[in-house]
Amino acid sequence: MKRTCMTIINKAALVIFLSILFAKGYAQEEYKDPKNRSFVETFEGGLFHEVVKYPNIKFKKHPKNIILLIGDGMGISQVFAGMTANKGQLNLENFKHCGYSRTQSADNYVTDSAAGGTALACGVKTNNGAVGVDERGVPVENIRERAASKGMKTGVVTSALVNHATPAVFLAHRANRNMYEEIALDIVNSNVDVAIGGGRTHFENRKDGLNLSDSLAHKGVKVTYNIDQFEAVNQGRVVGLFANMHVEHYPERGHMLPRATAHAINLLKEDKDGFFLMVEASKIDAGGHQNKTPFITKEMLDFDQVIGAALEFAAKEKNTLVIVTADHETGGMCNTDGNFETGEVKAQYVYGKHTGDPVPVFAFGPKAEWFTGFMENTDIAEMLKALINKNY
Ligand code: MG
Ligand code: ZN
Repeated sequence: MKRTCMTIINKAALVIFLSILFAKGYAQEEYKDPKNRSFVETFEGGLFHEVVKYPNIKFKKHPKNIILLIGDGMGISQVFAGMTANKGQLNLENFKHCGYSRTQSADNYVTDSAAGGTALACGVKTNNGAVGVDERGVPVENIRERAASKGMKTGVVTSALVNHATPAVFLAHRANRNMYEEIALDIVNSNVDVAIGGGRTHFENRKDGLNLSDSLAHKGVKVTYNIDQFEAVNQGRVVGLFANMHVEHYPERGHMLPRATAHAINLLKEDKDGFFLMVEASKIDAGGHQNKTPFITKEMLDFDQVIGAALEFAAKEKNTLVIVTADHETGGMCNTDGNFETGEVKAQYVYGKHTGDPVPVFAFGPKAEWFTGFMENTDIAEMLKALINKNY
């Protein structure tokens, strides 16, 4: 009797012991400590910029000017990496109207920058790779072209090639984003007042032997090769080709992007009909593809200074709508640890591609309340088109 009793107790103990072991094993499988994962990437911090607060601004009723700021590959984790790195604050916090943009393209749950950009610029869902054309390949007017047709001045500024997918959707109509030389030709034939980025090679060292910088000069468009030359131009149309291919990373390229943004605004603001300006922070995406937290975070810090430059003008004039959004998220980034004092950020990634998640939309200025809640990326173009057309 005594022995049987012991056996039962032993068996029970064994079952309990094994249950705990399995439960613990299972828990470890389900709840891996992210800090122990090998692919955690760390930004060490130490790169800070000043943030300006613009509370309680009484905006004009309708926007005269529109500034569209696109962070390529910028999801909410990329934004918050920047916010953590800058001691918990960004210029972006001045935006009180926020929403989400659904980014799916016509032929894919996960968009690329060409289709995502075409949706933002032209208001149509198209196939991945397409630049300013619909699913059938038919050119669709973009909002910059619409603005120009209404007498507004227009500008496009990027840290990528000026003929890269995101700027191209505001300047060109081509079947594929890889048609760099054709897109450069479209830029020369466009009526854009200010176009700044890299990509000089596709203008001056071409298969067709044309020198598009000469063509621009013949049209009376000034061609500049660095930010100082651009800032020295105080009137007329101007193109900036600041690198043979891509402009350098931040901070190696200095404050090229915020400076180009501020000076583009200076050149465009003189028009009584207002202006449309698109600025792209291109390399947040490149950092996402590489799963490099320092790369992403530094580019995000630079982008927030671009946002600061736009806000400085918009807060003063009170007649300018500023929209900040993205074409898609890149990397499946997730911030797993951070330090608001040192600016350190740790993050993990799903993989090195774009993801299908919605991206944030931030709006500041007259009619900012239109850009809230869930929307399609194409809705952003449609609403901006309505504002350009003065369909309030
Ligand atoms: Mg881009
Ligand atoms: Zn990308």
